[in-house]
Amino acid sequence: MASSTEFDYYEFLGVERDASSDQIKSAYRKAALKWHPDRSPENKHEAEENFRRASEAYSVLSDPQKRSIYDRFGHAGLGSRGGFEGTGFNSTIFEEFQDILGDLFGVDDVFGGTRRGGRRGSRGQRGADLRYDMSLSFEDAAAGVTTQVHLTRRENCEACGGTGAKPGTGMAACKTCGGRGQMAYQQGFFSITRTCPACQGTGQVIRDACVSCRGLGRIEKQRTLEVGVPAGVDSGTRLRMPGQGEPGVNGGPAGDLYIFLEVKEHPFFERRGADLYCTIPVSFPQATLGAKMTIPTLKGNEEFEIPEGTQSGQIFRQKGKGLPDPHGGKGDLYVSVRVVTPSKVSRDQRKLLEQLGQVLKVENKPVERSSSFFDKVKDIFG
Ligand SMILES: [Zn+2]
Ligand SMILES: [Zn+2]
Repeated sequence: MASSTEFDYYEFLGVERDASSDQIKSAYRKAALKWHPDRSPENKHEAEENFRRASEAYSVLSDPQKRSIYDRFGHAGLGSRGGFEGTGFNSTIFEEFQDILGDLFGVDDVFGGTRRGGRRGSRGQRGADLRYDMSLSFEDAAAGVTTQVHLTRRENCEACGGTGAKPGTGMAACKTCGGRGQMAYQQGFFSITRTCPACQGTGQVIRDACVSCRGLGRIEKQRTLEVGVPAGVDSGTRLRMPGQGEPGVNGGPAGDLYIFLEVKEHPFFERRGADLYCTIPVSFPQATLGAKMTIPTLKGNEEFEIPEGTQSGQIFRQKGKGLPDPHGGKGDLYVSVRVVTPSKVSRDQRKLLEQLGQVLKVENKPVERSSSFFDKVKDIFG
């Protein structure tokens, strides 16, 4: 999972920041050819790393949404690996960019036939992952919720079982490759076997197209999925639903569905991890003499008592009254007490306060540094 150091995607591919998608595609093809590990056996490791980088750059710049995020926020906007789903250098890079790389190399060639697939040369390709953005109320995120997700996704056509062939018509051998699924050709010193573009390596083509899917094998379907959101999730939490993405090709596994959560803010609770913070205003007499009051918690209103001599800014920890931690345990609720000074007083109140002022004196000297506000905050918030 070694995440590579960040590098500039445009710079790496050698394109301008306003490059067209065709320019980016062509730059990626060039880079992929240059850094193909089989072409630099004496420097395989460096070639692999550069190949991976080129693929990462291309995966972002070829996706208009990811590209605009990258343009505005850089790597930070995309997460640690630029939203690149490949882990290190492996064959999935070739699968993900098969459309482009298929023209350059035969995938089976590169990995010495270690890959699965039905017929010789056919490629079981994993289906695409899907993303769904879900917004949750603070309370639902705190308590956990089972909710429904409505999405449109491509699925295998039921009429033809995903083959794209009209039921009962079967398949015919591909004329382009003579049914072998692969085509060999010479490029410089290399003899390269490439996957047949006409049949995508299966060696077979459709005789008559299925009417339901017009030969595509896929149909867009509206789906409603039930999603269990665990208690204590936060904005940025990603739920993975295995196999709920798009179907695979040639018997490959389906992709996954990722649900990106966005939790709305609470009017008075602020959260840090599983801990909650809120501020309760109290009057000077309450702070001085101590007081009982009700405060809000996630479980509703609860009794809360401040002792005699409570200072403004003092923080009280209510153990276990925070959010559930998805990894186990519970956070705490921190109640910060703020003594409210009246901004306007009546004539009677003024008289009482003046009397009080005569008998209740505070020495107006700077406080010692050790009891300053910042230290207190540091102690509590760590
Ligand atoms: Zn063919
Ligand atoms: Zn069909």
